[in-house]
Parts: sequence; structure tokens; C-alpha cells
Amino acid sequence: MPRFHRIASLVLAATALPGLQAQVPVRNAAELQKQLDRLQTLGSVLYLAAHPDDENTAVLATLSKGRNLRTAYLSITRGGGGQNLIGPELGDGLAAIRTQELLAARRLDGAEQFFTSAVDFGYSKTAEESLRLWRHDTVLGDVVRTIRTFRPDVILTRFPPDARAGHGHHTASAMLAIEAFAAAADPKRFPEQIAAGLRPWQARRVLWNHFRFGDNAPPPAPGSLTLDVGTFDPLLGRSFGELAAESRSQHRTGCSRSWTLKPKAYAQAPCSPPCSVGR
Ligand SMILES: [Zn+2]
Repeated sequence: MPRFHRIASLVLAATALPGLQAQVPVRNAAELQKQLDRLQTLGSVLYLAAHPDDENTAVLATLSKGRNLRTAYLSITRGGGGQNLIGPELGDGLAAIRTQELLAARRLDGAEQFFTSAVDFGYSKTAEESLRLWRHDTVLGDVVRTIRTFRPDVILTRFPPDARAGHGHHTASAMLAIEAFAAAADPKRFPEQIAAGLRPWQARRVLWNHFRFGDNAPPPAPGSLTLDVGTFDPLLGRSFGELAAESRSQHRTGCSRSWTLKPKAYAQAPCSPPCSVGR
């Protein structure tokens, strides 16, 4: 095995644990107060999508540092099939770098980070192809294990479970979230996890975080919940939109520029039930 690939494999193996919590240094009294506030708040949200940089960092920052909820992002892949705008690494090497970019982003927005064992094989036109190449049962088991480990009250998908998601990986990520929502609560599904000590877990809701790319995005469906992610936090001295922009700017391989605050873009984050989930 070439030396570089061996190092990349070791890095990935070391980070293939069920979950990775970005180490959050306490840098000042305001952040210490934030962490104390979190001790008094119950509630957790698992955000789920397909790739590094799919996640809505404004939602993660608002839920984690604004609402003091335990918040995590489950990225189905590590993004090795994507582009690298700042260096020659692709495949395993890029996946290792993007893993670290995600952890750096989480250190800023306060969420935790999880992965599955699925490999990003590049663009896919269909969810069926994605689930076949990812090995559906294996990646579903990984998502179920994450849910049973993190035990979220709410699961939030970045994409809808249909063609509106575009990329097959995106559609498949929402399909997996919905399937795992039920499977994690069923002790007959993936019983080896139960035998290993995990308990079934029924999250209360699975919601889709509408994407609004551009000003002409369709309005959210009737009955959607709306989360204001544009507020200013006097304790931190900044808005969650600013925090989100800084977090998103850690994705340097996929976007070589730094993000700056666009208040309109971060004003709202509507969430509604995915089509096939009636709760
Ligand atoms: Zn993506």
C-alpha cells in the first residue's frame, strides 16, 4: 500500500468511531456561561445529509448555541468524491481533509459530528444507485446506530426524499433518515446493536429543513415550523448568522472563499414533515 494511502487509511480508521465530538475549547467567560446554560436544557437534534458542506450551519449554530440543545450533524459520507479547489488530494486523501474541515466547523457552531461507513463515489443520478453502492443495509445500520447512540428528540434532514433533492446522494440521505427513524425504535432491527448494549430509540419527529437557494425559492409548505436563525446573541456578541458563516468557511476544499454574512439568506429556516412521514 502506498505510504500516502496507508496514512489516509489510518486517519480514516481513527475517525471511524460511532461519533466524533469536536473538542470545544472554552475561550472566554461568555462561552463558559453558554456551556453552563446547556446543562440546564434538555433536548437534542440530529441533522442528517450526505456530504461535508451540505449542513445548514445557521441551523446548527442556532440550535446548539442559541437554543442550548445537544445538536449533531450526521454526514453519510466524508466527501471524497467531491472536488478539491485548493490542493491535489482526491479520494481518500480528500475525505481525510474534509473530515477535519467538518470537525473545525463543529468547533465553531458547537454541534457534534458523526459519519457512516459510506464512501462518496462521486455524482449519482438516482437514490437507488446510491443506496446500492453504499450497501443499503450497512449504511442504514450505521444511521440506526447513530440514532441509538445520540438519542435525538428530532431528526432534521437537509433534503427531501425525492427528486427535488437533485443529487442521488442527497435523496438517499433523506430516505435513510426516514427509514432509520422507524428502525432505530424496533428492537428486531439490527439486533446485534441491542446485544452490544444499545437500546432502541424512538425520535419524536423527522423534519425536512427546506432549502432556499436564491430569492425565487418556493414558499415553505403550509404548517411548516419556522426557526429564526438570524438573531443576535448578546452574550457571544455576534449573530448566529455570523457564527454560521465562520463555520461554513471551514469547508475550504469545496469552496475556496470565505463566507460573509448575508442577513436575508439566514433570516429563516422553515422545517416541514417529509412527504412519507405522517408525524
Ligand atoms: Zn451534497
